[in-house]
Amino acid sequence: MSRSESPLVREPSPDEGYTYMHRAFLQAFITHNVLTAENIKPILASIMTAHTASPSDPNRPWTPGDVTPPILTSTIQTVNAKLEPYDLEIRSQKSQHPPRSTVYALVNKTSDSLTQLATKFSAAEIAYIRRVLDYMFDTNNSRTREVCAIRHSEASQLARVRRTTRHSQPHVPDNDDEDDSPPQHQDTGISIQEADNLLSTLVSQSFFQKSHAGYYSLAPRALMELRAYLKETYNEPASAADGEDAVVRIRDCEGCRDIVTHGVRCDNRDCGVRWHDACANAFYAGRRRQGGRGCPTCGTECSGQVFVGERADRVAGNSRRSAVQREQDGEE
Ligand SMILES: [Zn+2]
Ligand SMILES: [Zn+2]
Repeated sequence: MSRSESPLVREPSPDEGYTYMHRAFLQAFITHNVLTAENIKPILASIMTAHTASPSDPNRPWTPGDVTPPILTSTIQTVNAKLEPYDLEIRSQKSQHPPRSTVYALVNKTSDSLTQLATKFSAAEIAYIRRVLDYMFDTNNSRTREVCAIRHSEASQLARVRRTTRHSQPHVPDNDDEDDSPPQHQDTGISIQEADNLLSTLVSQSFFQKSHAGYYSLAPRALMELRAYLKETYNEPASAADGEDAVVRIRDCEGCRDIVTHGVRCDNRDCGVRWHDACANAFYAGRRRQGGRGCPTCGTECSGQVFVGERADRVAGNSRRSAVQREQDGEE
């Protein structure tokens, strides 16, 4: 059927239903892992051209400029409605680093989404990824030093298993009777070369990102996909029975409510306020007339120089780093 015979659809709406156009759009996500708005527009324009005439001129194909935010939004809504039963969803998040482009990814909605990686990686590799995440969000994420990233040398040291990790060990059912599978904790780790290859693969799949200074951190795709997992694994609710306070290691931005692994924190160490750089700048620029940089929660004047992310490691300096090194060496 030639394009001139196809009906003139000005704009698809969510109730138009799921068509092969949406299927092609979904396929683009499966192929590319992550897409920015700039990547999506030409892809959607070419898919639309096969489906309908251009909204602005029926005699020409769709251009990326024809893919307006409402069209993008309604297309994603239609695809997500179809994906709902499969616990999959196209989500978007702004990059924490400039330029703050919006990144879209097809993500798993289940909180044990790390287990979903099992289709791509071996059990020993998944166990290694858990050790790396433990290092990022526990070892390298203390009250005074929220790095939330890991240097390459640290990641290499985690290839071999040295000790049980505190947080992300697979859940062992309380009722042993129901689980007669053999114990799975004979994990001896992977080689340093295998760890290096795995880190490169995770970077190429937009799951990890590597900074110029050599730190690995979670890329937007992983932050979207692992959001629930990270909070369940590393945040601990207060326990009235033990009199323990809640431990919050994974914090959301005061501005946009996405997780902050790279940004700034309130100068008051006891305050939970975290910001992405751009979100803090936008907030304080809007309040410039009132003067000052008071924290919206505790009122502390904030310097903007107390960091979350690898900058926190550089500020903490070498003395603390060597202390961590000594501690590790002592445990060998
Ligand atoms: Zn933010
Ligand atoms: Zn504060």
